[in-house]
Amino acid sequence: MQTLRTVAEVRDAVRATRERGGSVGLVPTMGAFHEGHLSLMRAACAAHDLVVVSLFVNPTQFGPGEDLAAYPRDEQRDASLAEDAGADILFAPPVAEVYPDGFATSIHVTGITDVLCGATRPGHFDGVATVVTKLFGIVRPDAAYFGQKDAQQVLVVRRVVRDLNLDVRVVACPIVREADGLAMSSRNAYLDAAARVQARALSRALDAAQSAVAAGQVAATGVLAAAGAVLAEAGIDPEYLELRSPDDLAPADAVAPSALLAVAARIGAARLIDNRLLEAS
Ligand code: AMP
Repeated sequence: MQTLRTVAEVRDAVRATRERGGSVGLVPTMGAFHEGHLSLMRAACAAHDLVVVSLFVNPTQFGPGEDLAAYPRDEQRDASLAEDAGADILFAPPVAEVYPDGFATSIHVTGITDVLCGATRPGHFDGVATVVTKLFGIVRPDAAYFGQKDAQQVLVVRRVVRDLNLDVRVVACPIVREADGLAMSSRNAYLDAAARVQARALSRALDAAQSAVAAGQVAATGVLAAAGAVLAEAGIDPEYLELRSPDDLAPADAVAPSALLAVAARIGAARLIDNRLLEAS
């Protein structure tokens, strides 16, 4: 695996594969790799001749007062994990390579970015949409791999691809969890022992909602009550706990036939998110 720092180097490295008729996969990340990231890399490696993993803690998707400075960074460890997962190129550019002086363009997706994480993190999805669009322009991948853990991000990226006619297939991969159900996240590193225990309640709340649906409770009020009770019992006051359409994030008043249950909460020093696609049987 090569670690590359510049757009020109990545373009050169990808060109040879493309000229041979090979296919290229892209896995955008902010590093601090865990099994969630590695699952995307393995999926990409199984499907493509060349896999580029980008490692870039994108400043434009962090708001003022968020954890940009504290975000965990360990490029050496990440490089070794990416290589073991089969990646061919680690693209780890400095900020000035991605946002040179005079950078003045931003991609804003309306509607679906106003709710859930977009409601409390204004500008976050502009930063995501802009950097992902740039990565698509730099790498020109056949497919790009994202985690369903960030369900709203997947919808935003799909919308950019559709609206701007980008020639990229967006692949969403399942959420990878710790043994006790906690969705893996680089931000789990911020949890102390007590917060780590409390954090289990997020996935348990989703489990409770899923059980309620399996028992025939498909109305949003019942589903949200089942999940909310688990959070309350763990002393968690969520930033949001909402049932929404998995297609456009419109409010859903029932799981009919499916709905996305999404949660965000501050737990200890971390802001964590999780979600579950609920399906009525
Ligand atoms: P991040 O480095 O947190 O920006 O994540 C990079 C990619 O990995 C995003 O597409 C995330 O959705 C995905 N990802 C993060 N955590 C998980 C997880 N637990 N399971 C699956 N994918 C994940």
